[in-house]
Amino acid sequence: HQPKEFLLAVEALTVSFDGFKAVNDLSFYVEENEIRVIIGPNGAGKTTVLDLICGKTKATSGSIQFRGQELTKLKENQIVQAGVGRKFQTPSIFDDLTVFENLEISYPRGRTVFGSLTFKRDAAVRERVEEVSEMIFLKDRLNVYAAQLSHGQKQWLEIGMLLIQNPDLLMLDEPVAGMSVSERVKTAELLNRIIKDRSVLVIEHDMKFVEDIAHKVTVLHQGQILSEGSMEHVKNDPKVIEVYLGH
Ligand code: ADP
Repeated sequence: HQPKEFLLAVEALTVSFDGFKAVNDLSFYVEENEIRVIIGPNGAGKTTVLDLICGKTKATSGSIQFRGQELTKLKENQIVQAGVGRKFQTPSIFDDLTVFENLEISYPRGRTVFGSLTFKRDAAVRERVEEVSEMIFLKDRLNVYAAQLSHGQKQWLEIGMLLIQNPDLLMLDEPVAGMSVSERVKTAELLNRIIKDRSVLVIEHDMKFVEDIAHKVTVLHQGQILSEGSMEHVKNDPKVIEVYLGH
């Protein structure tokens, strides 16, 4: 059975929409400090898998174990508390706030250890904001309004807003969509920096980016795993070639 060091263990997960199984008896395991990429044709069930993990969609059956907690029994906000962060495709940053302010408002409120000593909390928040802004290549843009940022920088800012909450699992839906080549390369660098403290689960269509980041690739098709392993393994798997090119 699965060894202890798995951060996330998805087992026999199924969700039916009016009898249609969008995710069908799916099992996969994500290790600590792993970048896992889910690929697959449109309608394969990729988004639904992330929706199930973050609690946006309720499973029909099966289990999602995260650090020993059963996520299928928790509400969306409890899943965030448990350490799961999810970035959606459309950015939810505040255009009329600065980079600093966007990060500051995302800092978890309950987590201050300084009680009512507001000035000490402010110092802790500032320190963390600066730390995160460096990870997302925006340290010299802290006073810039989010509206002025490039498309890529906005995507990084939103990743930063999740990172400031220190999630153990960060889930990203097509993070490099619409990015330039240099932004894509920097995004790969960003992900490689942040997995020292967490795992990342990514849905991605850009195969160049998948090659750059994936420790392991899970290929979904019709709600089930078609192939799984290294990028090298899955791209040479005849079943994968058939699904992508055979129609
Ligand atoms: P992918 O992200 O791989 O493109 P999705 O997870 O979005 O695929 O969708 C998988 C399948 O489930 C699709 O056929 C989609 O139409 C269906 N589906 C997803 N969510 C719902 C829902 N809330 N109600 C009904 N059908 C859904």
